[in-house]
Amino acid sequence: MEFSSKLLENAVYEMSQLPGIGKRTALRLVLHLLKRPVDQTQHLSNSLLKLRNDIRFCSNCHNISDVALCEICANPKRDESLVCVVEDVRDVMAIENTGQFRGMYHVLGGKISPMEGVGPQNLSIADLVVKGKEGKIKEMIFALSSTMEGDTTNFYIYKQLQGLPIRISTIARGIAVGDELEYADEVTLGRSILNRIPFENSLRAS
Ligand SMILES: [Zn+2]
Repeated sequence: MEFSSKLLENAVYEMSQLPGIGKRTALRLVLHLLKRPVDQTQHLSNSLLKLRNDIRFCSNCHNISDVALCEICANPKRDESLVCVVEDVRDVMAIENTGQFRGMYHVLGGKISPMEGVGPQNLSIADLVVKGKEGKIKEMIFALSSTMEGDTTNFYIYKQLQGLPIRISTIARGIAVGDELEYADEVTLGRSILNRIPFENSLRAS
């Protein structure tokens, strides 16, 4: 792509670093911003910078939160003996939308992926194991996407928790849950949480 301006080229390059944004889309977005009042670009830049600088994570579940303890963890009506293990905030939002889950979450912050240099130490797994050993949790539901990385992560955590009196289950496979949880429709996702199966059964099936 030939640019008539270095400023334009730089802006398009930065925009195209975002996932799912190719050079053409990046150019369209940048030109759109140029046509709009300068305030809009200012607000966009400010809100992203503020998010990046001020971002906090719940001290209990590691979900993105503006306060030390997120709304879900701070809610006394939630069942703290039931913990749903998810990859990131999108999964929490998707599961909350189903209205079918009254337990707590534990947000890992990603999946184990040797290809991308993500090991167990880069995720909040150790913290989950500590919570497991405290004895309050009766059941953990693995709700990671059913990819190889998701399976690896599930199995790693399962091994770490072995010997603890915690029931480990996984959201029902075989129901058409999309590759990523966020794409599953609410009814399907809600059903797969209610119809969760013991994790050991999912090992035998695969
Ligand atoms: Zn929380």
